[in-house]
Amino acid sequence: MMHRCGMLPDDYRALDLDEPAGRKLLAAAVQRYQPDLAGVRGLRREILERVAGRTRAEPLRIDRRDEAGDGFVKYLFELHDGAKIEAVRIPVPCEAAGVDASAYQGKEKKYVVCVSSQAGCALACAFCATGALGFERNLSADEIVGQVLAVREEADRPVRGIVFMGMGEPFLNYDAVVKAARILSHPSGGSIDGRAITISTAGVVPAIRRYTREGHKFRLAVSLTHAVPDKRAALMPIERVHASADLVAAIHDHARARRQRVLVEYVLLGDVNDSPADARALAELFDATLVKIDLIDVNGSTGGFHRASREARSAFLDVLGSARIPFAIRYSGGQDVAAGCGQLAGGKSGLVRLSSRA
Ligand code: SF4
Repeated sequence: MMHRCGMLPDDYRALDLDEPAGRKLLAAAVQRYQPDLAGVRGLRREILERVAGRTRAEPLRIDRRDEAGDGFVKYLFELHDGAKIEAVRIPVPCEAAGVDASAYQGKEKKYVVCVSSQAGCALACAFCATGALGFERNLSADEIVGQVLAVREEADRPVRGIVFMGMGEPFLNYDAVVKAARILSHPSGGSIDGRAITISTAGVVPAIRRYTREGHKFRLAVSLTHAVPDKRAALMPIERVHASADLVAAIHDHARARRQRVLVEYVLLGDVNDSPADARALAELFDATLVKIDLIDVNGSTGGFHRASREARSAFLDVLGSARIPFAIRYSGGQDVAAGCGQLAGGKSGLVRLSSRA
């Protein structure tokens, strides 16, 4: 039985309903987050009974919320089969002490939600708590949309953006992820600007190629984390399946096709990938007009890594600056409740194993 939070208007054709009726039902399920159909206007009772009998709409069950000192909130959800996943509510502007939020002065305060696309993850990146759990299962589109709706329901600001950077590799659950993004950006659904939805992949090249061909409006981010293939393979085993050379070509082609820079994520690991030579290798890998580098400090203890020193980081940034490759340092919040990048573990932080350093 399909869940209405995972249905686009066209899906209601399976119930012999037309597109306008589908839009009304999408608005009830996602825009107004009504689990029952009582408030749906303009559809006959017989139709509503048919929809109620052949679909479902129960909300996701929130198991726990943990609020960090910087305003990030980590949500733990328990799914119908007992699988546990996490999402993070990210305040914009950031409320952490000492963070310069002057660029946001006078602008609307809002939230971005970081969602999970899988329970666990098969890709086993060495610095990631989710990867240490292994793969459990793909999430359905409604389970992805449901994370956003549950967070939005109790938010004191509007949710204006989504990042697919939680648990799992989105492009190994391609159809559900793209469908969830379409529902969340649909004017009768989540009404979130498609350009404010970012899908982040560890580098599943055939899926990137498909994504480019299909011409989606959502932004693409790719996690690289080392520019030298052998060293990247030790950190991100996906390198052995989809080599950096193919990945870089796919990134460049996507940026040209979309006329938009691809975000290249680079987790800075102290004494592992933070030397000036590493920065030069990174800058030389890309056409500086087609990408923007997103630098993220490593979080948590998974893999036994530590953060780059201030001096190393500064020298790294100098090299990128000299190469005129645009970059930003991403604030990764919620550290005190393990809500930062690479820290989501479905509430199983006690089970995260420490793998050897790359
Ligand atoms: S970083 Fe992403 S792709 Fe890598 S193991 Fe973690 S969840 Fe999976």
